[in-house]
Amino acid sequence: MVVTARALIKVPAVQDTLLERGTAAIAKRGSTPFPESDSLRVFVCGSASPLGMGQAQACIAVITPEHFFLIDSGAGSTNNINRMGLPLNRLDGVLLTHFHSDHIAEIYEVNLASWVQARPQPLIIYGPQGVDEVTNAVNAGYRQDRVYRTSHHGADLLPPALGILDHETITPGVILQDGELTISAYVAEHPPIEPAVGYRFDYRGRSVVISGDSNVNGDTMKIVDGADLLLHDALSLPTVTALSKALGSAGQPRQSRIVADVMDYHASTDSLIKLGENSNVDMVAFYHLVPVPQVSVVEDVFIRGVPDNFLLAKDLMSFELPIGSAEILVNKP
Ligand SMILES: [Zn+2]
Ligand SMILES: [Zn+2]
Repeated sequence: MVVTARALIKVPAVQDTLLERGTAAIAKRGSTPFPESDSLRVFVCGSASPLGMGQAQACIAVITPEHFFLIDSGAGSTNNINRMGLPLNRLDGVLLTHFHSDHIAEIYEVNLASWVQARPQPLIIYGPQGVDEVTNAVNAGYRQDRVYRTSHHGADLLPPALGILDHETITPGVILQDGELTISAYVAEHPPIEPAVGYRFDYRGRSVVISGDSNVNGDTMKIVDGADLLLHDALSLPTVTALSKALGSAGQPRQSRIVADVMDYHASTDSLIKLGENSNVDMVAFYHLVPVPQVSVVEDVFIRGVPDNFLLAKDLMSFELPIGSAEILVNKP
């Protein structure tokens, strides 16, 4: 008699052995420490906009040996943070660029994930005017969840005070200086959303700018001056135009209009190519992709005409900027 693998897997004793091996592998992976490095490192935890599926929404992690900040916290991003094994036990804060849902959806998820991993201080949510309203609402909306968690696992494991978010309202300019890290906020152009900001990180001679949602304007040109890496919100005009037209022809006027409306408040790929020509930024990665490419032809349209130092960000991609060098190492998933 031939016993197939499919039949074998139905045998309880075989299932138990597989379970033991599988859980051991998961536990081993979970206990592997985050590989530390002297470099300034950037991780793409979410590369998507609300238009499209398949990738997590806006979230970028910036990590130095002493710091860990997230820029925005879009839907699906906490899962990517866990998949990459980022050190949530030392998460310092979340910097919000603005309060569209695709940038704030997982504030509580990442708060909970870092609380569980023994983050020693309350998580600070930084953002422009209005961040108090968002933070207070998350604290209030999840109050019962916090009570359940602490009463189930005990206050020694989940101290109640560390589950409550703190907030800090920022204005453009230097918002934080700690050791050799400086974080600056700049005004983004995302009308009618005001205020909206982007952030620049400078660490030991290396630098990265993260735009949040914005058109390219004079403030963008100033902040990217001399930066090593720019991650910028990017909209593919040919794709969005075609999509809007197709929705209109298919009798979906509401969807057609919504798609057409987004064209005026995200940077087109053409405007980013111009930025590359007129600035001295070393590498440009498109993220918060509008729309998220579902097929390779859309990816090709996104990078149509871009120079060699441009690329398309995807979830789980990371960048390493070694100190004392001009190198940018790109790790693709
Ligand atoms: Zn957005
Ligand atoms: Zn937005």
